[in-house]
Amino acid sequence: MPVNVYFSDMRAGTSENLFDKTGRLLHSCGLKERVVPGDLTAVKLHFGERGNHSFVRPVFIRRVVEEIKGCGGKPFLTDSSTLYPGSRKEAVSALTCAVENGFAFAVVGAPLIMCDGLRGHTAVEVPIEGELFRSVPIGAEIAEADALVVVSHFKCHELTGFGGALKNLGMGCASRSGKMQQHSTVAPEVAEEVCNGCGVCLASCVHGAIAVLEGKATIDPELCAGCGRCVSVCLNKAIKVQWNESAPLVMRKMAEFALGAVRGKEAKAVYLNFITQVSPACDCYGHADAPIVNDIGICAATDPVALDQACADLVNAAPGNRDTALKSGFEPGGDKFRGVSPDIDWEVQLEHAEKVGVGSRSYQLVRI
Ligand code: SF4
Ligand code: SF4
Repeated sequence: MPVNVYFSDMRAGTSENLFDKTGRLLHSCGLKERVVPGDLTAVKLHFGERGNHSFVRPVFIRRVVEEIKGCGGKPFLTDSSTLYPGSRKEAVSALTCAVENGFAFAVVGAPLIMCDGLRGHTAVEVPIEGELFRSVPIGAEIAEADALVVVSHFKCHELTGFGGALKNLGMGCASRSGKMQQHSTVAPEVAEEVCNGCGVCLASCVHGAIAVLEGKATIDPELCAGCGRCVSVCLNKAIKVQWNESAPLVMRKMAEFALGAVRGKEAKAVYLNFITQVSPACDCYGHADAPIVNDIGICAATDPVALDQACADLVNAAPGNRDTALKSGFEPGGDKFRGVSPDIDWEVQLEHAEKVGVGSRSYQLVRI
């Protein structure tokens, strides 16, 4: 039986604005049954890299927070540290960046809590029945929350074709080591020309995999457990993740991490995708390039697979914008994601998520 995906276009007027429609979308999904009084409710979003401006605006998050409070829930906003050394590489930097991007308590009405602790290592190993993993490390505050509202900016992504609810769950809720497991099969490498031999990384490695020899750090791949801690502590950015995992396998791993992120909360989760400012790359970049299609609307569902499938179909059904990163598929029905990243088979994430039981690709669009 197809899953209902509720859809609001961008139209608004004096009788109802887009915030009201956002509230209606959440309640169409049964928010009141999924969030009950006293529920500590994680609102998982992407705080946006410094310089980016295509993430979901804080004023919409405020409305999500108000609706959760209206159900008696206790919402908190949450995100995880990044694997790469950008402006969100640990909790202090990430929360500072979030406030700079507008996610201050005075705006959003809820506290900000990193789901994976100070340095991205606070995780719970969640058992799953995947094809690739039997357990996955998920940020502890996601795992421990009573309920989950996942708010995602639906856009293109250079590695997964598009990024929506599945990516927000699978990559966005994973701890640092979980992100490493998805992106890389080998130990990080040291850029010798940048390393000054300070030894900070050596002290950070609890697995004893790092040595400083002749003034340069070296990593023993046999001892490295792939936690990613050293990547974040090197102030010289000398330790690099080897992003060697193939795109299809990243997507399959991501789908299995999504399974772990929602484990135990399948009946306590609601998903909201904003198909607005559909940029050609993810919000982890310190810029946002011109949208490849015009703003389409907002979708909500209780199934992240159906939701992402519906959003992908809506984007592909739209006419593409000229003078953007889109290179083909301009006509309605043309593949916009391949029009930006021709070599990425974006359907892999949907296929595998459905296969391992995250949800169903079969949906019906219900316009509100
Ligand atoms: S922390 Fe960075 S600069 Fe210092 S020894 Fe390690 S790799 Fe080299
Ligand atoms: S990734 Fe973790 S285990 Fe591997 S060298 Fe770095 S700190 Fe050590």
